[in-house]
Amino acid sequence: MKQRMVILGGGESGVGAAILAKQQGYDVWLSDGGHLKDAYKKELDSHAIPYEEGMHTEAKILAAAVVVKSPGIPEKNELVKKIRARGIEVISEIELAYRYKGNSKIVAITGSNGKTTTTSLIYHICKHAGLNCALVGNIGYSFAKQVAIDPKEWYIAEISSFQLDDIKNFRAEIAILTNITEDHLDRYEYKFENYIASKFRITMNQQQEDFFIYCADDPVTNQFINQYTIYSNPLPITMQHPTNQGGSIQNGQMSLDMLNERMQMSVYDFTLKGKHNQYNTMAAGLAAMTIGLRKEKIKEALESFEALEHRMEKVLTVRGVEFINDSKATNVNSTWYALESMTKPTILILGGVDKGNDYSLISDLVKEKVKAIVCMGVDNRKIHEAFGNEVELIVNTSSALEAVNAAFHFAEKGDVVLLSPACASFDLFKNYEDRGNQFKQAIREL
Ligand code: ADP
Repeated sequence: MKQRMVILGGGESGVGAAILAKQQGYDVWLSDGGHLKDAYKKELDSHAIPYEEGMHTEAKILAAAVVVKSPGIPEKNELVKKIRARGIEVISEIELAYRYKGNSKIVAITGSNGKTTTTSLIYHICKHAGLNCALVGNIGYSFAKQVAIDPKEWYIAEISSFQLDDIKNFRAEIAILTNITEDHLDRYEYKFENYIASKFRITMNQQQEDFFIYCADDPVTNQFINQYTIYSNPLPITMQHPTNQGGSIQNGQMSLDMLNERMQMSVYDFTLKGKHNQYNTMAAGLAAMTIGLRKEKIKEALESFEALEHRMEKVLTVRGVEFINDSKATNVNSTWYALESMTKPTILILGGVDKGNDYSLISDLVKEKVKAIVCMGVDNRKIHEAFGNEVELIVNTSSALEAVNAAFHFAEKGDVVLLSPACASFDLFKNYEDRGNQFKQAIREL
């Protein structure tokens, strides 16, 4: 008899899991407490996969042999508690994909910041070098769907901590941990250690022949790494000192060392600018070397990669004033890296929904580089409190159009206007993409 698999949650990963499970011969049923997007309903229908939406029929769910839980559903959910209490196996979509990927290999990228950039960069290098590979996770298909409908020899996978929480055997030949800063603590009983442990699960099943790339300059990673038993080969990246194995940047020169291979390149040849992107580039370059790609190909790819939309994206220069869209910077740490990379006097557009920001982290950089702050949010009090004494010009605005006009008014030829809000966007916008798009539209109208 077919094993019964219930998929909880019908987003990209849930629908992908359903398609793969059905293909592998499970008796599949999907349940989503909210509403399913039309495109996903069509997909489920086309694979003859039954589903419900707007409710969870408990009896049917508790009859499952295996549950694939969407990363969006928290452990404290009552239904999840009941599933656990029954002893039903719960796995994440990446675990399911892992079980059916055959001999293919995985590069898995996790971390608090820089996942999408690093993942995209690795994929770009791999494509450029002619590797048979796919980009899965946040951009493109879910891992499970890719395995089901278009399998490849290599999967370059962006992985959230929630996905790692329900892995069992998932193993990446190359694992990357970009950094760890406090995030999503509501899902980890407000214990930072739990979130950290979840990130380190990326190394849990790695073996001796595998590789673990991590940032040795990240204080949290550094502090906790010795608490975990890691069997794979460590490849640290750092800007503090040269390394034997791993990556370093010294005086503008990047050196990557992996086994007996060495690759060097000037950071001035990277298309991705900013210190944070130098870390991302080291991680991506090392991953590519570890895969065994040719050094010339890696270099060419690092010289040709274009920045992703909404991440330090150069928009336009209007009458000598450059505009940069970093709308994806939704926390203070991201804004720190954006400011750190500024080489011209900066007008900073800041604000939105604050998730408990500590602005003192950026106060030195603001003092040094920022000539005016344009607040763009419903409640801007904290920004005024933090920078009122440090920056002469602070104004409030409540739309992208107003913010761009105000910033342009303060700017002189040779300045840069940087949207790097350090906050979520949903007070004034649908999401960070909408915020970035409205910003860009307002610049085009200047
Ligand atoms: P994620 O996918 O982890 O959210 P992204 O690659 O989309 O990360 O980058 C989000 C923001 O985080 C960027 O706008 C940038 O400001 C910041 N960022 C990118 N890489 C790093 C890094 N290595 N360290 C710290 N911040 C980073």
